[in-house]
Amino acid sequence: MRLLAIFALALTAAAADRTVLAIGAHAGDMELTTGALLARYAKAGDRVVILHLTLGERGKSTPNYAQQKRTEAEAAAKILGAEVRFGPWQDSQIPTTEDAARWLAAQIADVKPTTILTHWKNSIHKDHTATYRLVNDAILYAALDGARTVRATYYAENWEDAESFHPYVYIPVSADDIATWHKAAMAYEFAHTSSFDYLRYYEGLQKVRGAEARKPFALAFDIEEIGKRRILD
Ligand SMILES: [Zn+2]
Repeated sequence: MRLLAIFALALTAAAADRTVLAIGAHAGDMELTTGALLARYAKAGDRVVILHLTLGERGKSTPNYAQQKRTEAEAAAKILGAEVRFGPWQDSQIPTTEDAARWLAAQIADVKPTTILTHWKNSIHKDHTATYRLVNDAILYAALDGARTVRATYYAENWEDAESFHPYVYIPVSADDIATWHKAAMAYEFAHTSSFDYLRYYEGLQKVRGAEARKPFALAFDIEEIGKRRILD
């Protein structure tokens, strides 16, 4: 049984009671895709926590790259005003087991997030799809154990997770948030040295989604299909 999180479209919930938990497969995933929004929430006084299930340490074969990624993740979180946590798994080996879901449920019970940001269900990267599955199982387990804090789960727009992703929820961000995002992204070497131009892609996306939302900049998220059901009396 897969939990369909309780979807709340009240994105403008009072900042005082909002805790945002961004759960990514690899250090860098959540900052690149959602960093501008994390910056916005942190600036508004929300608690923001980034949980990297792995360091993404196999992106480069240089010695000590795992330590480098950890240092970069800590620097990026600091720039965004977020706390950072790390999962116990290795890059490309996130397991979709009961134990893994229980570990993640304990993290959710500990952080008590009201909003979770994570990967969409379809991806070219197995760790991303594993993260989607774990997050949904973990929300269920946390809820069954009494931690029913999650009001909304939003799936980030990620070039690697594009299959059947449809932007549904748009959240505006400011030029200042974009500047903070850019600084955080630059903390990661791969973001500006990879053959995939991450910065150009996400800069462009933030403008495109902004135009669609009639705002200067915005991020777009998908939600579960059942959350899109409208029942009219
Ligand atoms: Zn990734």
